[in-house]
Amino acid sequence: MNPIIAGNWKMNKDPSESRVLIQRLLELAGDVRDRDVIICPPFTSLAAVSELIKNSRFKLGAQNMHWERNGAFTGEISGLFLKSLGCEYVIIGHSERRHIMGETDEMINKKLKTALEIGLISIFCIGETEKEREEGRTEEVILNQLKKGLRDIESEVHKIIFAYEPVWAIGTGKTATPRQASEVHKFIRKQFSKKITILYGGSVNAGNIDSLMAEKEIEGVLVGGASLKPEEFTRIIKFQQM
Ligand code: PEP
Repeated sequence: MNPIIAGNWKMNKDPSESRVLIQRLLELAGDVRDRDVIICPPFTSLAAVSELIKNSRFKLGAQNMHWERNGAFTGEISGLFLKSLGCEYVIIGHSERRHIMGETDEMINKKLKTALEIGLISIFCIGETEKEREEGRTEEVILNQLKKGLRDIESEVHKIIFAYEPVWAIGTGKTATPRQASEVHKFIRKQFSKKITILYGGSVNAGNIDSLMAEKEIEGVLVGGASLKPEEFTRIIKFQQM
């Protein structure tokens, strides 16, 4: 399996800015062969990015979706619409959605189920806050997120990509050490009899990517801020084996 490098653009880049960014990335890293690159722009840029990457090896992902396929859910987006735009992946349960938008484990569970049903691959985010880590509750929090998020779909975990994203490391410049990340990845992996894929996310940048990817537990990364800088993201995509 190739390492997975996913870029979450969050609420940045309008369609014309997205075109510029993806074109530059394609110039710099479009030739990469041994990495799976997933680009997750805002909803409004999916069509533009989809068009530009269609003959490349880059894949398209969305940052969220609703659990229903359609209906009276003003302002929400169906996973089926994402598929029709060429998305193969969708980020589910990102900490910004949990903590800022009030998304619950139950909502996340419904989204994961729908994504499985309609054939979108979820990038399922889990992770503890700084306070929870300081209180020694990291494993308890992760276990709870896994248990509730995966209710009734435990047998399908091999079809989901997990992203361990400690909340204290997201957008803060504080990265989990490769060892801290590795320990939690091992803990997550231990919960399942099937082999699962686990990415790390949280202030990944050009300076720490090589040491993170040197950990055998870390099978890829979910990158926020640094994925908006084409040169830096290219360095992340083309990380060097240590
Ligand atoms: C993210 O958005 O998932 C993320 C990890 O952000 P950042 O890389 O900016 O910390």
